Amino acid sequence: MESFDTVIIGGGPGGTPAAMRLAQNGKRVILVEERGRPGGECLFEGCIPSKILEHAAHRYSLLEGLRGPDKGINDKPSAIWKRFIEKKDRLLELRSDAALRKFENLPTLTFVAGKARFRSNREVVISEGSGKERTIGFKNAIIATGSGAFVPPVKGNGLQYVWTNRGIFEAHDLPASIVIIGGGAIGIEFAQMLSKLGVKCTLIEMLDRILPPVEEEFAGLLHRKMCDEDGIEVNLSSRVLEINFADEKFEVVFEDKGGETHSIVPERVLMATGRIPNTKGLNLESAGVSSNRKGIETDEFLETTAQGIYAVGDVINGPKFAHTATYESLTATENILHGNAKKVDFTKNSWVLFSDPEIASAGLTEDEALRAGRKIIIGRYDFSSDAKAQINGHPFGFLKFVVERETLQILGVHIFTKGAPGISGEAALIVSMGATLKDVSEAVHPHPTMTEGFGLLARQMLGTIKENSQ
Ligand SMILES: Cc1cc2nc3c(=O)[nH]c(=O)nc-3n(C[C@H](O)[C@H](O)[C@H](O)COP(=O)(O)OP(=O)(O)OC[C@H]3O[C@@H](n4cnc5c(N)ncnc54)[C@H](O)[C@@H]3O)c2cc1C
Repeated sequence: MESFDTVIIGGGPGGTPAAMRLAQNGKRVILVEERGRPGGECLFEGCIPSKILEHAAHRYSLLEGLRGPDKGINDKPSAIWKRFIEKKDRLLELRSDAALRKFENLPTLTFVAGKARFRSNREVVISEGSGKERTIGFKNAIIATGSGAFVPPVKGNGLQYVWTNRGIFEAHDLPASIVIIGGGAIGIEFAQMLSKLGVKCTLIEMLDRILPPVEEEFAGLLHRKMCDEDGIEVNLSSRVLEINFADEKFEVVFEDKGGETHSIVPERVLMATGRIPNTKGLNLESAGVSSNRKGIETDEFLETTAQGIYAVGDVINGPKFAHTATYESLTATENILHGNAKKVDFTKNSWVLFSDPEIASAGLTEDEALRAGRKIIIGRYDFSSDAKAQINGHPFGFLKFVVERETLQILGVHIFTKGAPGISGEAALIVSMGATLKDVSEAVHPHPTMTEGFGLLARQMLGTIKENSQ
């Protein structure tokens, strides 16, 4: 039986960085990926294709008013979609090939196309197709098998035809209308992108608000913008009862807040109702790895209930982002290389929602800080007076600091404005370095950029605090 120092199952942003870092440290590593190519859901059906589409939809919307046979620009959304598919396929291949080339420069790293399952807490079986199987032994393992779309059971014959994040990127053309079920990050991003491309979008969300983990005031403002400006019909507190499909059309029946039943007939239905961890078929029991509905159980070192076996990324119960998967991947690597010494800290996580306007967040929200019993003060900077936001023609939105009252450490930074992704890195750094208002107030932020708000808000809050304590 072949033996490796570490076996890594899953070649997405959770598995790949660990494989490379361990190999760079001279460890014999085998990385097993079912798709046969590295990149994971993030590259093939998640972050990258959705952001290529977001970019295309944004550019298309900028030409509003210039389109038309007599106005010089004749592009139709279907032409944009065709170009999107071409660009997506090109970029995906480019990125996946680049990763494979990096692997070739790491002599102790073996990349295998196949599906892995445990046979014991020290053996994995890899099915390489056509009935070919190979068993390998390992000292350590990292499970990074990601998550898949959760499709809730709904009555009717239509469920088998609905799109999830798989399916939509393979479509040959844009539909004229779509019902999107789920008002979380994926549902909101798709609703705004598709509506910019002229698709009539109806969103159905079971809860009484969109984007539950997002700062409530930001989610409220975005909800209003979607309804008032984007022309998206948003149905909150609504429950889908039935989905049927006949003659190339769906029928979606849902019940609204007041118990009234409605029926919509869209061309397509997109399910964006959450994610489920990919644990099926891994035979975790044979390795002594415990899991539940929310994912594989890990401790603060990301070690599972089986010693030496770690789990990272979407397959565990934690924030589901590509960069978080990578952070966890590198944390688990440190713990394999140096003994469990590095704990994960999700209070410093950051993320961006590519809505319009975008939302970026790092660290604790106001609500999370209060629930954790922290004594906090809140500061807000209004982008309506921001020079760069005015220059860009979008003087709208807020920057919000959640600050610990006693130490003046910034626990959370939340941004809601067009261009938020571009300044989200500073938010992540402020929170991860434990910067205080004083630290940020003393940084020299270039003018005119939207980062100036960080310094201005810090100084404004320090001024306010001094005034209040006099
Ligand atoms: C539409 C959409 C948009 C998104 N946008 C963003 C975004 O903008 N930013 C962001 O940070 N995150 C985004 N995400 C989330 C992001 O894609 C995930 O958090 C990230 O991919 C998780 O990485 P992972 O390595 O844990 O899992 P994955 O990327 O899912 O990789 C897991 C890999 O494991 C393989 N695998 C599974 N089982 C086995 C097995 N038994 N044997 C071998 N291989 C196996 C799978 O084939 C897969 O390639 C988005 C997700 C979706 C669906």
